[in-house]
Amino acid sequence: MTLVESAPTSAVTGGPSLPQERRLVTAIPGPKSIELMSRKTEAVAAGVGATIPIFTAAAGGGVVVDVDGNSLIDLGSGIAVTGVGNSNPRVVVAVAEQLERFTHTCFTVAPYDSYVEVAEALNRLTPGDFTKRSALFNSGAEAVENAVKIARHYTRKQAVVAFDHAYHGRTNLTMGLTAKNQPYKNGFGPFAPEIYRAPLSYPFRDGGLDGVEAAERAILQIEKQIGVENLAALIIEPIQGEGGFIVPADGFLPTLLAWTRANGVVFIADEVQTGFGRTGQWFASDAEGVVPDIIVTAKGIAGGLPLSAVTGRAEIMDAAQVGGLGGTYAGSPIACAAALATIDAYENDGLIERAAAIGEVLLGRLGELAASDPRIGDVRGRGAMVAIELVDPATGAPDAALTGRVAGAAHKAGVIVLTCGTYGNVIRFLPPLTIGDDLLLEGLGVIADALAADAGAVAA
Ligand SMILES: *Cc1c(COP(=O)(O)O)cnc(C)c1O
Repeated sequence: MTLVESAPTSAVTGGPSLPQERRLVTAIPGPKSIELMSRKTEAVAAGVGATIPIFTAAAGGGVVVDVDGNSLIDLGSGIAVTGVGNSNPRVVVAVAEQLERFTHTCFTVAPYDSYVEVAEALNRLTPGDFTKRSALFNSGAEAVENAVKIARHYTRKQAVVAFDHAYHGRTNLTMGLTAKNQPYKNGFGPFAPEIYRAPLSYPFRDGGLDGVEAAERAILQIEKQIGVENLAALIIEPIQGEGGFIVPADGFLPTLLAWTRANGVVFIADEVQTGFGRTGQWFASDAEGVVPDIIVTAKGIAGGLPLSAVTGRAEIMDAAQVGGLGGTYAGSPIACAAALATIDAYENDGLIERAAAIGEVLLGRLGELAASDPRIGDVRGRGAMVAIELVDPATGAPDAALTGRVAGAAHKAGVIVLTCGTYGNVIRFLPPLTIGDDLLLEGLGVIADALAADAGAVAA
């Protein structure tokens, strides 16, 4: 960490030109952030939270610089969005060019080629070598809703299965699909009908059930409680995001997939968080050769601009009537320009390999930490998507309080880190793929120090 005397006062430029360092010039939050936070409280609805109480001035590479001039290590990527880094130069140029040409026509009124080019790229990059189609939207939740619409229309069935610990969004249909009540669902019902929940494979808490056995347990429950003749689709995150970075045991996903194929059920992979290089492959489904019928992408696909997509088998995707899919801003030309530049960056700047290398650093360092700290019950994940689950070493019970204290201490020490999990006891690491190893290891060192200090404080 560098300590400097005073905060830079001139406007800072974001992107990779930012000094790649952790630098604290005030307490976190500093006076300007505190001032803005009180304006937020006065102006913004209370339900819109903030993980870390700083306000952003610039970001790039592996850092976020706040309005007080503090430079924080970014281990969250704005929730797995800025895989290519904030203000990635390719994205900045492409968006600026598009802004000068036109900002909006509505694709379903007067189409433009960049939307088609994004669809072509998604059809090419997603698993499966059959004919595909894509449709673009704005948010992950909106794309998930459309995937369900499409699957229902194609199958002429209504029931949808989601899994324990699932997170699919905050709109009405996706709240129904999401498992966790607080904070996502509490008080917001009633939820959409014909949504059912099945048990997941959660190796750390499954008592030795293997992936195939866990899938058979889910399938039996689905067949007995819903019936395949009513089931339109099964939706699953290949590695769960908000639910706790749960990696199902090997065989779980392929067994479910084979069962959906045999029973006329559409398999929807929600790769909103895992997609786009995050796990060291283009998609998390690729790890076990899972080829979903429909794949949903968002977060990482457009370098920080709002864009999402539904990609799938042509016969499924083409089932809906003309005019049944779309939206005023869906597939905005600005977001499409950003997506094409983002895909360029993934394909030409070695970022997917970088995600795999980041995974080795994360799993290596966190594994070392876990070996000497029984409060770390589990280290799991793939590529630049890794988490630790914190527990009471005596009972294995989730320790959400410790998790909150460690994340809070990391924030104060200049590291942006996110928590997750049904039990609130998981710290997840989602660095931008443009972060350097030094900064990444420094960030993990801060987590290690926070864990050690907490143990000392509790012992004292
Ligand atoms: C974030 C997320 C969503 C929702 O995306 P939004 O853009 O926030 O609507 C859906 N599914 C998964 C797996 C996610 O991580």
